[in-house]
Amino acid sequence: MNVLFLAHTDEGGSLGAAAMEALGAAKGLGGSLPIELTVGLYGAEVQAAADQIAGCGAVKFLGVAGAEFASARYGSDASACEALAKAAGAELIVMPATSRASRVAAGVAMRLGAAVDTRLTGLVVEGGKIVATRWFYRQRMVGKIERDARPWLVTVDTGCFAPVAAAPGTASVELLRVAPVTRTVVTGINSPAADAQTIRPEAKMLLVAGAGWGKSQADGQKHLDEASSLILGLLHATQCSLGSSKSLVDQSGEGAALPFLTHMHQVGQTGSTPRHQKGLSTCCHGEEPHVVGWRFINERRAINLDASCGWAQGKADVLYVADAFAVVDKVVELLR
Ligand SMILES: Cc1cc2nc3c(=O)[nH]c(=O)nc-3n(C[C@H](O)[C@H](O)[C@H](O)COP(=O)(O)OP(=O)(O)OC[C@H]3O[C@@H](n4cnc5c(N)ncnc54)[C@H](O)[C@@H]3O)c2cc1C
Repeated sequence: MNVLFLAHTDEGGSLGAAAMEALGAAKGLGGSLPIELTVGLYGAEVQAAADQIAGCGAVKFLGVAGAEFASARYGSDASACEALAKAAGAELIVMPATSRASRVAAGVAMRLGAAVDTRLTGLVVEGGKIVATRWFYRQRMVGKIERDARPWLVTVDTGCFAPVAAAPGTASVELLRVAPVTRTVVTGINSPAADAQTIRPEAKMLLVAGAGWGKSQADGQKHLDEASSLILGLLHATQCSLGSSKSLVDQSGEGAALPFLTHMHQVGQTGSTPRHQKGLSTCCHGEEPHVVGWRFINERRAINLDASCGWAQGKADVLYVADAFAVVDKVVELLR
């Protein structure tokens, strides 16, 4: 079987950890199947990366190099990958699941008429067939995939495969000429400040905002601007991570509520299951489909106007029956 290891180089021109693991995954198949391994590399320069893995046992090294392939850009990356895959004539194409490669994987598969599966956690040979494994439903189910379709393009997740052990040397790289079709000019990269992100998996505390923040309050009015500044104020003061109930996120989807919330914030049965030491729920009723998302959070507190809300039914250690607007305002003031 012809197997292509297809990867971009990193900024320094070498192959990063994810690529070394993907090559380990591709090469690992060779223990049980007769495989012919080709290496395909793209980036500003590819020689140093090819030399880094010169002893990997590949029969051929192909490359697409040039300034126009230095940065991640859909048009140029997809053109490079397409050309490399076609030149290799590979039946199986293995890419690392980096953000750069993931952006183009499905599009490249489309251009090749290939089947595609992403973020694989396992790639083995069973009974002479390649069997891939990956998670489904946010790691609630693990699935095994076999495909007869060829080519088959896969991306493999990091941390799942041993990096290839290949002696460095001097590789003979066949460079392909590719003229990328793109209208995008890369002029630079602007990264947001590290604390601009409101989902912070490393934080000790999770702040959950519920639909109450977007509902009419005692004066009969909605106070969305105030809710926004209180929630962001508490986030800023504590550097905690922000989660949300489904109801509040769904309001945001309609453009009606807090502008910084996305479905990525949703905690619960159909959302995420974050792992913070502590959690503070605000204006959230604490219904079971939401609270199951708290199963790894041991110290739980909630603020709700309703003394018989779900949090009072043994789901929180402490329930403050109070107006979350007033409590959060006071807490932020004390933290200042
Ligand atoms: C199959 C299925 C999957 C689901 N998956 C999820 C999921 O993943 N995540 C999820 O969250 N939900 C999920 N749900 C929905 C879930 O059942 C609830 O409908 C949802 O969690 C309710 O959100 P909430 O508590 O924020 O809103 P509400 O139920 O509207 O509660 C708002 C709360 O805010 C309080 N409040 C209002 N003003 C104030 C104030 N000033 N101070 C303090 N408290 C105040 C009110 O007393 C009320 O308790 C799912 C439902 C189903 C059927």
